[in-house]
Amino acid sequence: MKAVVIPQYGGPEVLRFVEDQPEPVPGPDEVVLHVHVAGINHLDLTVRKGIPTSKLTLPHIPGADVAGEVAKLGSDVSGFEPGDRVVANPGLSCGRCEFCLAGEDSLCKDYKILGEHVPGTYAEYVVVPARNLLPIPVDMEWTTAAAAPLAFMTAWRLLVTRAAVRPGEDVLILGASSGVSTAAIQIAKLAGCTVYTTSSSDAKLKRAKELGADVLVNYKEMPWGKAVWELTGKRGVDVVLDHVGEATFKDSLRALRKGGRLVIPGGTTGTLPQIDLRYLWWRQLSVLGSTMANQREFEAVMKLVFMGRLKPIVDRVFPLREAAAAHAYLEKGEQFGKVVLSVP
Ligand code: ZN
Repeated sequence: MKAVVIPQYGGPEVLRFVEDQPEPVPGPDEVVLHVHVAGINHLDLTVRKGIPTSKLTLPHIPGADVAGEVAKLGSDVSGFEPGDRVVANPGLSCGRCEFCLAGEDSLCKDYKILGEHVPGTYAEYVVVPARNLLPIPVDMEWTTAAAAPLAFMTAWRLLVTRAAVRPGEDVLILGASSGVSTAAIQIAKLAGCTVYTTSSSDAKLKRAKELGADVLVNYKEMPWGKAVWELTGKRGVDVVLDHVGEATFKDSLRALRKGGRLVIPGGTTGTLPQIDLRYLWWRQLSVLGSTMANQREFEAVMKLVFMGRLKPIVDRVFPLREAAAAHAYLEKGEQFGKVVLSVP
């Protein structure tokens, strides 16, 4: 089958389009999907660069997000037919450990992500557990569906489960244009919050406003921490969602009100921030990590996507064979929303 592989770790240029990749075979509880569109996530760039603790066998197929058709069913699978249009929860859990039994799939002792730990979606076919699949509405485009899973499930767990946002709260979402941010702005708005967001581009802030952001901060005009402090009357916001990491962590803590919550799904600028512990205890702040979501959270957020109440934003579609160009484009950071790959 056709696929894009990582033959060695490095920049976007290492990605190779190949036509001789063996087709996957489903296990008893698994399904092979014929991929129509694969979504790109920042995670894929990290996998391509090489994760020091990862023990991947190269060449490796990246990609967590997929919208496609059921092609082959494992021997024990029921409830799906070949040709069904589906998306997949890219989180793979054992179903048996204490965390899985408590419904906390993404805390699984053996948690894996499609395309990070096992072959992913930059291919004509990919294998996924049947229980991770959800049918998509007949009128939903492949590109829209493929742009949703990882970003929306991540944003949902961050805000609804971990930060437990409530109507009327002020929520600051750093970096308006990422996939997780464009999802989080909409989810915070739907939850009845006042949404603050930041960008260095007025054009991107305008797009964020269309998604529901209430307070827009261009950090080229004023440091965003100072701006948020002034805009909240020196109170600070209730919740900050920070996926930027090292570069922003200190200011994120300072932007919180007393007793506020900082939620963290990643750190694109680095993972070793400095922290003054006095600040943490005196202001009684909570720092909450979050990864992916459980199946129930995935289903809850996808239901709202399928209803059209949350809208995946697709910035650009590249053909699969141009995955290297798509990665280079995403690394420039000029996109607003998701970049996806169409698979012929
Ligand atoms: Zn488990």
